[in-house]
Amino acid sequence: MKIGFIGLGNMGAPMAANLAKAGHDVSGFDLHAPCPDGVSKVSSGIEAATGQDVVITMLPNGTILRAVADEIIPVMTKDAVFLDCSTVDVESARAVAEQAETADLMAVDAPVSGGVGGASGGTLTFMAGGTEAGFAKVNPLFDIMGQKAVHCGASGAGQSAKICNNMILGVTMIATCEAFALADKLGLDRQKMFDVVSTSSGYSWTMNAYCPAPGVGPTSPADNDYQPGFAAELMLKDLRLSQQAAEAVDADTPMGHSATDLYEQFVEKEGGEGMDFSAMLPRFEKRHRG
Ligand code: NAD
Repeated sequence: MKIGFIGLGNMGAPMAANLAKAGHDVSGFDLHAPCPDGVSKVSSGIEAATGQDVVITMLPNGTILRAVADEIIPVMTKDAVFLDCSTVDVESARAVAEQAETADLMAVDAPVSGGVGGASGGTLTFMAGGTEAGFAKVNPLFDIMGQKAVHCGASGAGQSAKICNNMILGVTMIATCEAFALADKLGLDRQKMFDVVSTSSGYSWTMNAYCPAPGVGPTSPADNDYQPGFAAELMLKDLRLSQQAAEAVDADTPMGHSATDLYEQFVEKEGGEGMDFSAMLPRFEKRHRG
């Protein structure tokens, strides 16, 4: 396929490189980042989008996505797919899809889970929203960039699934960290705490696969001085998107709200920026009640 790729940052560059390696003809554009091997560098979003079967965007947020969409939709070939893999607000995803469909394009929102490691290794999970026809056309690309793609429903459904998943992740990480900090103060050995919880009803991905306590459970960012992994500020971004969506549809999400407040405090006031999101454990360790 002829593919345009806009946004060659930490995630976009390895995704574009994997598509090129698989034999696709990929033209890439980024305002600042260099072009990875195998991808032809072009000098504007318009150039990257013109004459392509699929245009992929991997951008920081919904405002930038909307601006790029305004620029490239008018030059895209009819029936081409606008595939946005960024994590953005549901409203922007739906607005861009509507704009694309009005211009006789197909639109798929497909945010990813799996981080930079998943992007490099081609093992991302895609959660997609859009029509059956749009999903079918880009599904072979998901097979190259990832190991699983779920068609979640109409436009915006991919972003909805992503922020619900990450709201659970943020809340669960906080619960796991505060439980470890409580266990410490109760004199429980961390390894014993892991042995019990990881095989009892308190188990979770954050405990079992990504344990926030160094030296306990499988290797995780905790074992590397809390270098990310998944940075606390990215967790905060996704939690904020969950609360923006909850506000828009009048959903009561008290735990998501608390998790957003805690990550905001951690990132903006307590030096958590640049640390893995599991560094909530050393944060709780140092604190007292009240
Ligand atoms: P990044 O900041 O490394 O990359 C974004 C790139 O977009 C940058 O290189 C920037 O120069 C470029 N850009 C910005 N505006 C542009 C424009 N108008 N035209 C062309 N390029 C432009 O971010 P990232 O870590 O690659 O994340 C990209 C998206 O993926 C975000 O929405 C993020 O939330 C999501 N995501 C990231 C991770 C992760 O672990 N990094 C995991 C899952 C999802």
